[in-house]
Amino acid sequence: MSNEMKLEFDAVSENEGFARVAVAAFVTPLDPTLQEVADVKTAVSEAVTNAIIHGYADWGSLGQGPGKVVIRCCLNEDVLHIEVEDKGRGIEDVEKAMEPLYTTRPDMDRSGMGFAFMEAFMDDLDVESEPGKGTLVKMEK
Ligand code: ATP
Ligand code: MG
Repeated sequence: MSNEMKLEFDAVSENEGFARVAVAAFVTPLDPTLQEVADVKTAVSEAVTNAIIHGYADWGSLGQGPGKVVIRCCLNEDVLHIEVEDKGRGIEDVEKAMEPLYTTRPDMDRSGMGFAFMEAFMDDLDVESEPGKGTLVKMEK
């Protein structure tokens, strides 16, 4: 089976739950296990949260209003591809950002485990980012 969807929403925390549930609903026809659904929801949640709190961190104070987060899901022969994209500040050093426990926001009680969770719960993770341009997280399961 193949299927595709694209979601675009404001980068506000109220939309984290919505994004998680939308992706879970999208994968339902694949007949996933509860564990698989939980894994995908966690990974999407981490990526969307990152887009909101890191990607668009200083947008409010710059008067740029909430940015947009885009999620693309593509189902192809039982493989699920998920992309989470923001047009925010971007990441200087992606390799370093992906190290477990690395965070630039310890002040916000962040633990630096988001990328580690995405890596653990999904089969494949790829992060493309450019400072000042934004971040694209690609995952597969
Ligand atoms: P946690 O996810 O455990 O709450 P965290 O968000 O700091 O903490 P990660 O999700 O692993 O940890 O991200 C590591 C770091 O990568 C972040 O602290 C941030 O500096 C950077 N980062 C991640 N996603 C983005 C993004 N979309 N835009 C800009 N920077 C990002
Ligand atoms: Mg995070």
